Amino acid sequence: HLGLQVDYASELNPNQLLAATTTEGKVLVIAGAGSGKTKTLTYRTSYLIENGVVPKEILLLTFTRKAANEIKSRAKALLASRTADNSYINGKALNDITSGTFHSFCNMLLRQYSGLLGINPRFTILDTGDSEDAIDLINKEKKYPTKITNQAFPRKKTLQNIFSTSRNRRIHIRELIENSYPDIAVHIPIIEQLAVDFHEYKRANHLYDFDDIISQVVRHLKHNDTFRQLLQKQYRYIMVDEYQDTNIPQKELIDLICAPASVSLMVVGDDNQSIYAFRGANYENILLFGESYPEAKLIKLEQNYRSTPAVLDYINALSAQITLGYQKQLYSGLSIAGIKPVFRRLSDETKEARYIADKIIELKPDYDYQDFAVLCRTSFQSNYVQLEFMERNIPFIVVGGIRFIERRHIKDILAFVKILYNPNDTIAWHRILTLFKGVGAVTATRLTQAINADSNVNNNVNNNVNNNLNNNVNSNVNNNTFEPLLLPSFAKKSPQLKSLHTTLTKASQAESVEIVIERILEFYIPLLKTIEENWRERSEDFRVLKNLATEYDSLDKFLENLALDPPNDSVATAGEREKGEDSNDKVTISTIHSAKGLEWPVVFVNSLVDGMTPHHRSLSDFEELEEERKLFYVACSRAKSRLFLTAPEYFSSYSGYFDKPSRFIAELSADKLTVETSKKSINESEDPIWW
Ligand code: ATP
Ligand code: MG
Repeated sequence: HLGLQVDYASELNPNQLLAATTTEGKVLVIAGAGSGKTKTLTYRTSYLIENGVVPKEILLLTFTRKAANEIKSRAKALLASRTADNSYINGKALNDITSGTFHSFCNMLLRQYSGLLGINPRFTILDTGDSEDAIDLINKEKKYPTKITNQAFPRKKTLQNIFSTSRNRRIHIRELIENSYPDIAVHIPIIEQLAVDFHEYKRANHLYDFDDIISQVVRHLKHNDTFRQLLQKQYRYIMVDEYQDTNIPQKELIDLICAPASVSLMVVGDDNQSIYAFRGANYENILLFGESYPEAKLIKLEQNYRSTPAVLDYINALSAQITLGYQKQLYSGLSIAGIKPVFRRLSDETKEARYIADKIIELKPDYDYQDFAVLCRTSFQSNYVQLEFMERNIPFIVVGGIRFIERRHIKDILAFVKILYNPNDTIAWHRILTLFKGVGAVTATRLTQAINADSNVNNNVNNNVNNNLNNNVNSNVNNNTFEPLLLPSFAKKSPQLKSLHTTLTKASQAESVEIVIERILEFYIPLLKTIEENWRERSEDFRVLKNLATEYDSLDKFLENLALDPPNDSVATAGEREKGEDSNDKVTISTIHSAKGLEWPVVFVNSLVDGMTPHHRSLSDFEELEEERKLFYVACSRAKSRLFLTAPEYFSSYSGYFDKPSRFIAELSADKLTVETSKKSINESEDPIWW
């Protein structure tokens, strides 16, 4: 195979080549943005296969399913270009690579090894909103004395947050509350009890929240030797992109599988880009890699191939301001000098949006729409930009906003699908029952309990069937094990419940996921008409959902993908698709978090005033401020040729003035930027007025 290496060497720099061809042992690749970390993983994937590694032995963990697919399809193209003999790329070879997010990987394991782990594979997933509802329900059911003091009992959102943080950071609830939520300290005993109740409730009803999916696998890996050894034998080559955003359970998961020297592990990341501390991500994982694996190799990549030197100069200056972690100065791998980033202040958000649109139109002759991205700290900050783009007929997609599946009516439909898959999903039952006129929370709980008692009987039967199937988790719609529900007698009197019962029975007999949705809609739309005035506007969303359903041949895959890798808002453009307006040539409007790992020729970052970026709430906390700084670094480092930074002085949404530009901009020396004023670009040697 030596001869083959020549090609790799011409497309990778020496350190990238070293990383791509170091196939055994533990390796940490640490490098700044745009240095080719992801590209190196792509080449390593193809290199492994070329050198005889069986694709099934490869596990690729990335931040989104899309990112994983991209690595795979590029590796595939690479292999195809390198040989006329299609033997290793033939057919599905690369599809046998296990790839996805930590959540999708763990979810797959729980279902595939359910027999070995002694769990029911037909569990449903609670998203954050569902978990909050569950916590609320349990709290009401248990009637804990939450009003004994003047200190308000925390709301469901806060509780969910506390439970999740406690698990992801491995901090006891008591300690977490004492440190971060001192106002509710009197309620600690009840909150601790509620955490236990919540856990038991989920287990009893075959419900897993996002944290359970990973933690449960970690627990089984720790205690079930057979399971651990099976995985260690199966996944011999493990690669993790964006390692800086892993949390403690995710790190443990990797460490448990990778413990034997025979398992090859490569993690790549940039500690400066860790932006998920709010989900318990711990950038120290990357700094401590050497402690977990003393024999590990450390490879640094120091050339940046994404940004022109003028842009890179700015990004390097930003990166130098980040205090914790490895210091890295990147050298440009590109030859064109490029144009310095531009900073522009505007009087308000409307003007800011107009400026961005103007720039796009001005630059458009040299670029396509898809070459532009507007990156916002939160999706909320993109409202004015969206309005302006609509007015100016600039096509765009929105990424990372309120997700399609978080819309109320979509969640309703999915609740029906969930109970077909897992009749014990009490949260879904509750959601459906409270849609009915005259059914309040109390009646819904009573009904749910009665229905649940029956379906537990059904479920035990199903359980045996499933355990026999064991590895065949892709139970398709046809052999759906939904049993007709026995309605409790007091419910039989209700025509609505009877009709629901008929609907579920019909839906369970449907031959495709799309028809299942169809059957549910037949029941749901008339119901929606009675509770929602603008029900008509929702029907477009239903078409989108049906359209999505056609991509799946089983309920579990459908539910799973919607929960773990939900489509963003841009799927709502199904109407456009029909009108033939489905071109991909659109400006991206995205949150910074969702822009991770991506790049665009022209990038705008907005709302850059002190108090907004960094957010005023973060100003008093060093680590939070540092995370805001990292977020800004991630945003700027997405730009290839042009970077525009904008700051409005007045935010109508806050009715407030922010007179200072972001300190992240002000603290760098003036020569890194061109400061534009309304008249003309001022001479770079002049000090800007606000410096
Ligand atoms: P991030 O930290 O943002 O995830 P990254 O380190 O993963 O960045 P990539 O996305 O892999 O970087 O690469 C950035 C850009 O540089 C891509 O367009 C990639 O094709 C290009 N690139 C990387 N390495 C080389 C190289 N050796 N020669 C030419 N182009 C390269
Ligand atoms: Mg990357």
